[in-house]
Amino acid sequence: MEDVSVFEQVSDMGHEQVVFCHDKASGLKAIIAVHNTVLGPALGGTRMWMYENEQQALNDALRLSRGMTFKNSIAGLNLGGGKAVIIGDARKHKTEALLRAYGKFVRNLNGKYITAEDVGMNSSDMEHIAAETKHVSGMPESRGGLGDPSPFTAYTTYMGMKAAAKKAYGSDSLAGKRISLQGAGHVGEFLIQHLVKEGCEIFVSDYYEDRVKEVVSQYGVKGVGLDEIYDLDVDIYSPAALGATVNNETLSRLKCDIIAGCANNQLADEKLHGDLCTEKGIIYAPDFLINSGGVINVYAEVIGAGTDWTKYKCEQVYDQTLRVFNQAEETGKNTQEVAIDIAKERIDSVAGIKATF
Ligand code: NAD
Repeated sequence: MEDVSVFEQVSDMGHEQVVFCHDKASGLKAIIAVHNTVLGPALGGTRMWMYENEQQALNDALRLSRGMTFKNSIAGLNLGGGKAVIIGDARKHKTEALLRAYGKFVRNLNGKYITAEDVGMNSSDMEHIAAETKHVSGMPESRGGLGDPSPFTAYTTYMGMKAAAKKAYGSDSLAGKRISLQGAGHVGEFLIQHLVKEGCEIFVSDYYEDRVKEVVSQYGVKGVGLDEIYDLDVDIYSPAALGATVNNETLSRLKCDIIAGCANNQLADEKLHGDLCTEKGIIYAPDFLINSGGVINVYAEVIGAGTDWTKYKCEQVYDQTLRVFNQAEETGKNTQEVAIDIAKERIDSVAGIKATF
């Protein structure tokens, strides 16, 4: 990768603040990125992953937090965008001490950033973080929270997928559709449940073989290899793992009509690969639009709204996704660009009446 300074990257992407967190005793190495707080405090989950190097972790924090700005805006939430990454293997290095050390760094931001769960994290981890800061959401129901946001993320992803089917096939029924799902994690599993109910044929890959085995035996889906997933003859490719899986290489292999999944930052390059999807006749459902269910639920917890409100907001994703597809067709822009325009318009209009949070 080209040698670009942190400040250059931050300035290019428009971040307000990036915090590097280190605690020797617990082994914590984390990065909190606050992208934009025009609409409210920055909210976004914490990801724990075994990044190959620090630059990769920084890139992820910067790209994910920017995505949260657009996601929170287009979902109509009074929240800015932020995200954090912890460098490490969640199955080996996640301890109470590490999570509490991280919680102290979140506390030091005085509410400018509110955290929740993402890849490698769950509701009970939020309890440890909450021992040090009140700026945490996605808490277990037993602690008065609204619990795991993943079922709601899976639900809006499913809604977005149905909207894409409506656009591609004239009907939003997914019955009989062949779907490749990359990642059988929290969201992936809930998504499988919706798709199995609707009679889809599902092919699943996961980095962890035990996860594939579990969903194969529980739901009767078919397990496939990590790389094989890009060559399958399917109607829909659904990324539900990490980002940037829609790129030059995979787009030359994918044979689907639709890309619709819950993973954040699916397009390696928003302009290039968004346009390439359009050129290849693939309908790309913007990730931050259709995976907003989780943050909607997390926000409901922050403002004291209930699950009924979450469901009502989640259902709007279907119409909103169709609107984006139609607007893309009318303007000749790619679907990701259109969704970003809608998100930016709201931020700009609110920025006109108030300063940052
Ligand atoms: P998770 O950690 O529960 O699951 C992710 C799974 O992906 C893991 O099982 C991991 O082994 C697998 N994986 C990683 N790399 C892979 C690869 N190359 N091929 C196949 N599998 C791979 O995480 P999650 O909460 O289910 O989140 C999944 C995606 O959805 C992430 O991109 C996340 O940012 C996004 N997302 C999640 C939520 C939520 O509510 N949890 C909300 C919005 C977006």
